Amino acid sequence: MPLVVQKFGGTSVADAERIRAVADHVARTRRAGSDVVVVVSAMGKTTDDLVRLAGEVSTSQPARELDVLLSSGERISMSLLCMALAELGVDAVSFTGSQAGIVTDTEHTRAKIVEIRGDRLREVLARGGVPVVAGFQGVSTERDVTTLGRGGSDTTAVALAAALGADECEIYTDVTGVFSADPRVVPEARRLARVSFEEMLEMAATGGRVLALRSVEFARNHAVPLHVRSSFTWEPGTRVDEEDPTMEQAVVTAVTHDTSEAKVTVAGVPDRPGLAARLFRALADRGVNVDMIVQNTAENGTTDISFTVPTGDLETSVAVTEGLLGALDASGVSSDAGVARVSLVGAGMKTHPGVTALMFETLAAAGINIEMISTSSIRISCVVRAERVEDAVRALHAAFELG
Ligand code: ADP
Ligand code: ASP
Ligand code: MG
Repeated sequence: MPLVVQKFGGTSVADAERIRAVADHVARTRRAGSDVVVVVSAMGKTTDDLVRLAGEVSTSQPARELDVLLSSGERISMSLLCMALAELGVDAVSFTGSQAGIVTDTEHTRAKIVEIRGDRLREVLARGGVPVVAGFQGVSTERDVTTLGRGGSDTTAVALAAALGADECEIYTDVTGVFSADPRVVPEARRLARVSFEEMLEMAATGGRVLALRSVEFARNHAVPLHVRSSFTWEPGTRVDEEDPTMEQAVVTAVTHDTSEAKVTVAGVPDRPGLAARLFRALADRGVNVDMIVQNTAENGTTDISFTVPTGDLETSVAVTEGLLGALDASGVSSDAGVARVSLVGAGMKTHPGVTALMFETLAAAGINIEMISTSSIRISCVVRAERVEDAVRALHAAFELG
């Protein structure tokens, strides 16, 4: 019997009516002859509400306790969905991440899955039942509850699909698939029928939040085909899988944007070997994920180094850098949270010159200044002022005729 993992995001299970609609779909899939494992997110904005509540009672928020709190949202959804499935005569059993055997490392609030012991899920499947697993959480090697980082239910779903050898992982959400740009920003964005893992990785890494980055990495590494689709219309959506070598690749597939990063600049760093290594080692040791780095050409023997980090890591990054000023012989640190990144992604870029030129010309014509640039073989990103980033997305989407 084919096995499918079906993941439902927050808007898909936002209220009782939505939960009944999801139960109906799961029951139909089961009756049509597939084994189903379901993964659910917390209802609607529950996780945001819990984060806010934590902030109202505590400034320190011990990470262990935050994880216990945040993991509760998904538990509400899983139990309600099982009740709705029971009503339809389906033998459904809920599992927390821990009960499902999802073992993680001990990095609270951004834990990584290290092992999945899916025996209890397999037992339920073997008797014809439907396991319903709480997304976004696991149990650490120290036996504490952990969460996998925001958007982590996608990762739960793909990891379970890989561990259980599922034929496909369906990600149900509030849009009908992966689009050529965020449809909330570009109404004429086009739904893509197919996207390769490589392109989806670049999109997820640069703000296309329809899939969590880690989930795409998992899918690529374990060759799990994904199908991103709507839980409102149930129509076929976007397939994310291995690149098809027989197909001509689009030069540019999508424009993405990300407003969740900030820029740090270290001024007056002497132009000597080893100083950058020292700075970025110190940041890495504090778990800061540095993204773009730009070093200006040396003037009078000193340079400025700018880099971007997730906004949540800005305070730590500035503190680490300030602490190193003496050791680096640098003159000062400044930070800027008003930046955003706009990126073009497309597998055909590898073989087509001129994409960068048109990107820069388009931004120039819109009067948008480029502050930093970074590229991969299939992506070009520019850091711009945050208040202009949506204009940049629309201008690039039009210039590259993606609609
Ligand atoms: P869920 O709660 O189902 O996980 P998310 O909010 O995490 O849903 O992801 C879906 C959202 O991703 C959409 O509502 C859309 O606004 C946003 N999004 C950003 N970029 C894209 C894109 N390129 N294609 C589709 N959706 C996108
Ligand atoms: N509920 C979690 C979040 O909002 C996980 C998820 O929805 O994927 O980030
Ligand atoms: Mg999501």
